[in-house]
Amino acid sequence: MIIRQIHVTPVAFRDPPLLNAAGVHEPWALRTIVEVVTDQGLTGLGETYGDLDHLRKVRECAQALIGLDVHATNTMYARISALLGAPGTGPSATRTATNPTGTRTEATGTGTTPTGTRTTTTETATTPTGTRLESTETSTTPTGTRTKTTETGAPTPGPVTEATATGAPAPRPVTKVTATGATTPGPLTTNPKERTVDRVFSPFDVACLDIRGKAAGVPVSDLLGGRVRDAVPYSAYLFYKWAGHPDDEPDRFGAALDPAGIVEQAGLLIDEYGFESIKLKGGVYPPDEEIAAIRALHEAFPGLPLRLDPNAAWTVETSIRVGRELDGVLQYLEDPTPGIPGMSEVAAKVPMPLATNMCVVTPEHFPPAMAARAIGVLLLDHHYWGGLVRSSHIAAMCDAFGLAMSMHSNSHLGISLAAMTHLAAATPNLTFASDTHTPWQNGQDVIQPGALEFTNGAVPVPTAPGLGVDLDRDALAVMNEQYEKCGIVARNDTSYMQRFTPTFTAGRPRW
Ligand code: MG
Repeated sequence: MIIRQIHVTPVAFRDPPLLNAAGVHEPWALRTIVEVVTDQGLTGLGETYGDLDHLRKVRECAQALIGLDVHATNTMYARISALLGAPGTGPSATRTATNPTGTRTEATGTGTTPTGTRTTTTETATTPTGTRLESTETSTTPTGTRTKTTETGAPTPGPVTEATATGAPAPRPVTKVTATGATTPGPLTTNPKERTVDRVFSPFDVACLDIRGKAAGVPVSDLLGGRVRDAVPYSAYLFYKWAGHPDDEPDRFGAALDPAGIVEQAGLLIDEYGFESIKLKGGVYPPDEEIAAIRALHEAFPGLPLRLDPNAAWTVETSIRVGRELDGVLQYLEDPTPGIPGMSEVAAKVPMPLATNMCVVTPEHFPPAMAARAIGVLLLDHHYWGGLVRSSHIAAMCDAFGLAMSMHSNSHLGISLAAMTHLAAATPNLTFASDTHTPWQNGQDVIQPGALEFTNGAVPVPTAPGLGVDLDRDALAVMNEQYEKCGIVARNDTSYMQRFTPTFTAGRPRW
């Protein structure tokens, strides 16, 4: 099953004003939808982050995968590593883009061609001010580079990018499109600590598993070892929030700015989804106010496991005080303070386990975190752990170290919910209810309805071949158009908050 085409489509959907230590969610959340098409006509779906810098990398790397078999994920990973300048070698791609611009990228290819050195890529961005930027970059490897940027206000047809599967990898500069229209040269990989390769590889891994499941007639969970649970429990993920975005009417969730508002929000989500555990995103108000909210939830929903996640907004001392005050109330305390050393100090002095999706986010973090006994629970997230198979490897590592597991969530759509559900179903030691932002989508999605329904807070694992979800092309087109028009190209909770509270800073620890 050879990959013949890859479509990369950025989308935007409405997002409520959810408060967190970094600021507040903007009115639009961004995602990128990846469709991989094989020579046999099978299509696989993947979903990943939507920030422009990441979108650009996904597009770039998609070209390098044309012509590969969908089982050749090691080669895919090596090619992406080579393209992003990360450790790891492997053959890369020679690309020739033939069209100007657009937000939908289609990569097609039909086989091997002579090695070439000229590469051309195209990008489109819409700036926060509504200016449409079109950046066409042409580079000649390995030594020469030309960059051309044009600006226009008119929409243009989407590109069709031809890609072939041979050619030597070569380090290459890229063009960074800024909100002001300026271009600056910069490396494709900005920070190895971010494990950029894993983040970029992930949607392709998911899409190829979708295809392999369809071809074999089995669900993705079977390809991950088989499900050990028929339904995956998720938690009610509560947020302090404004009644609505300042420029809009109040949304249906209403305001949640104090313990009563948080309890009301929990009631709404539990009524609609049946959640049987609760997580509160903290780090928004002084710790005593958040302790009061947790106590109010404990009183209103006795017996339901509770978690609190202030996103490292507290000092070690504050974390220890809060942890001790909530003894017997919290199931676990998530990322109270920054860094492995700080978490280690807190872990030694609070009664509940500490969980993280912040201080252990790459395999390299395991040895120091384990030596310092910094965490007891790891939040898995296939979007940054390198897809589903690599996440299974991380789960095995957690098993070896005796770590419990839950699952982390960012704003996401149904393709990711399906992937998360298959992964959690096939991960025996992922025993805590997982996080999900699904309720905050408020019904918006790129998949056809009905495949993923919550029952008692859990999603029954799809049994249809592959991920078990189908793309809603009309919805995809609408959400792509929303991306074009929304004026947001990268999530920035802090700058959005500063529009309304100019003195706000996201420095941590804050308390
Ligand atoms: Mg967290």
